[in-house]
Amino acid sequence: MSISKDDILTALTRVEDPELRRPLTALGAVRKATACDGYVGLTIALASNDPNSQREVRARLEAAVRSLFASRDEEFKSLSVEFEGASAGTKVQANAPSAQGHSPIPLGQKAATDAGQDSPSGIPGVRHVIAVGAGKGGVGKSTIAVNLAVALARKGHAVGLMDGDIYGPSVPTLMGLDGYDALVRENMLQPFYLHGVKAMTIGKLVDPDKPLIWRGPMAHGAFRQLVQQTEWGELDYLVIDLPPGTGDVPLTMTQLLKLTGAVIVCTPQKVAQDDAVRAVKMFQQLGVDVLGVVENMSYFIGDDGKEYDLFGRGGAEMMAQRLALPFLGRVPINTALRRNSDAGDPTGNFEPTAGDSSGDALKRSLETLAQNLENQVALVSMKRAASTPKLTIS
Ligand code: ADP
Repeated sequence: MSISKDDILTALTRVEDPELRRPLTALGAVRKATACDGYVGLTIALASNDPNSQREVRARLEAAVRSLFASRDEEFKSLSVEFEGASAGTKVQANAPSAQGHSPIPLGQKAATDAGQDSPSGIPGVRHVIAVGAGKGGVGKSTIAVNLAVALARKGHAVGLMDGDIYGPSVPTLMGLDGYDALVRENMLQPFYLHGVKAMTIGKLVDPDKPLIWRGPMAHGAFRQLVQQTEWGELDYLVIDLPPGTGDVPLTMTQLLKLTGAVIVCTPQKVAQDDAVRAVKMFQQLGVDVLGVVENMSYFIGDDGKEYDLFGRGGAEMMAQRLALPFLGRVPINTALRRNSDAGDPTGNFEPTAGDSSGDALKRSLETLAQNLENQVALVSMKRAASTPKLTIS
């Protein structure tokens, strides 16, 4: 059986605060613990802000977690530790400064304020955070994330797009950010504003040609800074494009943010479904509502206007049904979508004849996704409001 949050908490009963010499669990210092697929996330509140204490506690926590995994003969992948109300102990180094020679905030430096402590989403001014994930790469997750963000913005919402795929950022290409430089004002990154969307990506902060290799704590720090050191302002929706599969980034995200939910992108084939099911389970294990499934590359419309079923149309919809998840809609394989994506022009997908031979099928399918997503967000928000106890004093 895989290691659960309770197993982690039990293992931590032996870890003492170096100054107070009492177990962290007895001190109520373990504020949050998550465990998923070998990745462990902990939020710890220490009495002191001393970096040496934080380092010591981190080492003790890691030793305890490692020995738990070893005792169960399970693979330990990474531990990310977030110190609450104190400067994060995770330092991040970028591969290189930005190619354009501007001066973004050095990764590793902390924002002026500890952002979002009192905001429901974890980011001040942001109402809904929606993660877009997929079981595997290449299914069109980033493409769907970008087009969902643009579609929501075209409906009149204030929308942000964060490229959480820190290992392989696609947002610079998909949003057409070439030629734009990241700007920093008062220690905060200013998002790019294109296609009606505020966007931020690590792809504009590091050398675009260097491989992005992040160890667990570095990935945690990079993600944290993109979220917390970007001046998002007031947003109805912040869409986060996650790396494919399960891993440390989703875990970090749930440590830092309170999500409205996640969207899963899947192609119709059985192998894609199998991986998507794993992604769904991961979100459920992390306590994130799955708002729905998108079937991308569902079918192909030829020059003759006929629809061709290449991958087994309806496969992802059936998977959603099996898991009792909402189905948000399907997007056809479309040459115009690929072309506009390569050209960094998602707005082109919403032109009346965007879909070439398919007429406005592309535009309609993207708008339907956004509408269905909005409906699910409203539903989840209503359910949460109904389950929040209210105190009436008469
Ligand atoms: P992922 O984020 O899952 O790795 P991407 O969004 O980067 O995938 O998409 C991979 C490639 O497939 C990109 O070139 C993109 O333009 C293309 N693509 C995605 N969805 C479609 C689609 N429905 N029709 C045509 N091309 C698509």
